[in-house]
Amino acid sequence: MRFFFADSFDVVDPSFDFELESRARARVRHRSDAYAHELFTARAYDGFLVSKGIVDTGRYSIAQRHRLLRIGGKEFFRTGSVGWGDMPIMGDCGAFTYVREDTPPVTVDQVLQFYADCDFDYGISVDHVILAYQPSWDESGFGPPTAIRDRQELTLTLAEEFFAKHQDAKLRFTPLGVAQGWSPHSYRRAVGILQNIGYRYIALGGMVPLKTREILECLEAVAEVRKSDTQLHLLGVTRLERFTDFARYGVVSFDSTSPLRQAFKDADDNYYTLERNYTAIRVPQVEGNPRLQKEILAGKIRQERAREREQACLVALRRFEAKELSVNETLDVLLRYEELHDALRSHREAYREILTDRPWSACECDICKKLGFHVALFRGAERNRRRGFHNLWVFYRRLRRELGAEDVR
Ligand SMILES: [Zn+2]
Repeated sequence: MRFFFADSFDVVDPSFDFELESRARARVRHRSDAYAHELFTARAYDGFLVSKGIVDTGRYSIAQRHRLLRIGGKEFFRTGSVGWGDMPIMGDCGAFTYVREDTPPVTVDQVLQFYADCDFDYGISVDHVILAYQPSWDESGFGPPTAIRDRQELTLTLAEEFFAKHQDAKLRFTPLGVAQGWSPHSYRRAVGILQNIGYRYIALGGMVPLKTREILECLEAVAEVRKSDTQLHLLGVTRLERFTDFARYGVVSFDSTSPLRQAFKDADDNYYTLERNYTAIRVPQVEGNPRLQKEILAGKIRQERAREREQACLVALRRFEAKELSVNETLDVLLRYEELHDALRSHREAYREILTDRPWSACECDICKKLGFHVALFRGAERNRRRGFHNLWVFYRRLRRELGAEDVR
């Protein structure tokens, strides 16, 4: 089972100084920055997934986009020089970026050209996401609303065109056809049609909101038609469990961004270990925190007072790391600042756990070894994204452990 990390231009600045919170002046964006695979000496994912939707909108500058198309993915993402060995790149359209539109804003030709220019190893056909999961539509006898059915038909038609043009042009990458559905029965139908077109690597889309049990129901239905040499990929998995069961149904790969995103999006599960997740310690920058800024502008909190408490947290944590302060002493300082930046919720017990266990000092990943307690601070993109990278590294080990592999340090 291969884990593809779905990238959204997730890089960090290696020159960032965590004590001074400053950067090197000579930094050139992207070129001086580092991807997770450039920071870890041991593997943190099996492959890299790049969305056309993300490359075309927002995060990439026009110059960066042109450079990617000119030099190809291996050189642009610097996956060729990774010490872990082979690191395939998979391309997809990023159907979530146009999920609200009636039809995809990209053509099959444009997507084939994009994959070929980027010299990807795998390319996913153009699809249109179905966000509804309603098996009862099949049982009613009427089927789903027309708009839902149309999305499946359109995705299958585009997959047929994609496959034919890929064969004609003799493109190097391996094509994946996308199955979209609203029920186990409809996924089974889509997989059957894609196999008839000629696909032997099929991606199941629209899985993001599904519960693990529902994914398994779809895989069970698909198993009724799946040929023995057809492999499955799960697109955008957010629930990271039951991979052994997925494997039994022919799933050989999946992509996810959840371990990274949980580091700074989740309310609780921000820092992974092999055994459990911890809540990161919130020490927001006064200037960068909208809630604090609002209170300061309204005259409810004095700016200097907030700054003092913020700085006191950093000093206390540094002294805690040096074993000069106890857990309780450190907690007192953190909670005094929390009164100002998050009066609605107390993290007392969550912080007590992470401070007592100091999980970063036991972690063997390169980031924790270098950063120490900074990796556990919910504060600014440089720390938060590195904690996300650490989570990828830990998740990869959880996955290998679940699958019974013994080859991961
Ligand atoms: Zn770590």
